[in-house]
Amino acid sequence: MNWEEFAPWGRKVADWTQEYHQTVGDRPVRAQTAPGAILNALPELPPETPEPLEDVFRDFEEIVMPGITHWQHPRFFAYFNSNASPASVLAEFLAMAISPQCMLWQTSPAATEMETRMMDWLRQSLGLPAGYQGVIQDSASSATLAAVLTMREKTLGWQGNQQGLPGQGRLRIYASSEVHTSIDRAIWIAGIGQDNLIRVPITGAWRGMDPEALDAAIEADKAAGYIPAGVILSVGGTGTGATDPVAACLDVAEKHGLYSHVDAAWAGSAMICPEFRHMWDGTERADSIVFNPHKWLGVQFDCSAHFLKNPDDLVKTLAISPEYLKTHGAEGIVNYSEWSVPLGRRFRALKIWFVLRAYGLEGLRQRLRNHVAWGQALHDRLASEPDIEIVTPPMWSLFSFRYLRDGADPEHLNLRLINAINDDGRIYLTQTRVDGKLVIRFQAGQFECTEEDVMMVYDVVTEIARGLD
Ligand code: PLP
Repeated sequence: MNWEEFAPWGRKVADWTQEYHQTVGDRPVRAQTAPGAILNALPELPPETPEPLEDVFRDFEEIVMPGITHWQHPRFFAYFNSNASPASVLAEFLAMAISPQCMLWQTSPAATEMETRMMDWLRQSLGLPAGYQGVIQDSASSATLAAVLTMREKTLGWQGNQQGLPGQGRLRIYASSEVHTSIDRAIWIAGIGQDNLIRVPITGAWRGMDPEALDAAIEADKAAGYIPAGVILSVGGTGTGATDPVAACLDVAEKHGLYSHVDAAWAGSAMICPEFRHMWDGTERADSIVFNPHKWLGVQFDCSAHFLKNPDDLVKTLAISPEYLKTHGAEGIVNYSEWSVPLGRRFRALKIWFVLRAYGLEGLRQRLRNHVAWGQALHDRLASEPDIEIVTPPMWSLFSFRYLRDGADPEHLNLRLINAINDDGRIYLTQTRVDGKLVIRFQAGQFECTEEDVMMVYDVVTEIARGLD
């Protein structure tokens, strides 16, 4: 394959992409493939000689596509969506066409400067105060890791990287039971240890951290000789949308001088709508905030927006500058690789630019508002059924429920139900656990989904549940 052949193939791929997205709703959402089927269809040995691209493309359609779970399907209601709006796919195509490696300002000034501008556009879009600066990370997990490393280094007087952790005293980090497992992993990788991630009890319908319990946990740790290092808050947790009372928890963090990080990976996108911002009141005081435009905002995976009140803390934690990375004579510029764990960086800002310009904030807000309203309408319909129990209320477009039948074990019944729903293929849902109960979790957020798509969940759930033997 050479560049002469590229343009016809590019056109073919563009046509294929358009058709795929326009007809993906006709396919079963979750791959209906048996484990090992794709692996067995792929030759064990790599090719020694070139093969025609026609053959490769044919195999892509025949071998790969049947094994795909369609994340861009309008009835994908599982996990959190990973939306790829058409404008963002185009931007990504262009970014791939030039394939810059944007680790330093000088290795791609446009990427760096666009990142600065796009992070500021996003900051304004979310209503965060001027003064926050941002960086695009590859994932919320990376942003959280960077924040936890910053907590560690700041607390240890910047000695952890140099001296290691032995002999430094036991650091403690506080979060509720509802935070994403990326927080646990960050604690492991930072060498702080799972036992030092203190789970603060939750309270109320939002399943948020109890600020008094947070204060009590920090006081008890101090009295016992531990070293509190930071607080991690959840806005829109994965299982049920759990949301901490951010302002009250930050009062406690500030009282103890602790660094704070807010994980709003999913729900952060909703903050482009002013009417949802009360749910994260106080976030405008956090030291570090992450949300994923690659989830609900339509900016293709991967793209994680990380805001920092004082980037110097992060840079002091992560920057390393051997001679070959020095940018002599270019003072006052930003090298974003000093703000993240990986050195190499893709040109991710381009797709934010395309998406914000192609849809405008109003276009994006309308989509999010629809998802929330349709999710609420679905919730109301399911709630009116005597054999359906709503387990957690709508948090934006996410709620959970379970099916109950006299004499049937709810755990077994709902496991059978979720499997039958996903085998059916019209919709895709996942399960989660709430206070020990297995429940079915629904969230709406697909870029192209319609009210009919959402309301089909009612038909499929009630039909399949009542048809179970
Ligand atoms: N935080 C929350 C609340 C999430 O739901 C997720 C993933 O769904 C993450 C963090 C991790 O996101 P990423 O895959 O970008 O690391």
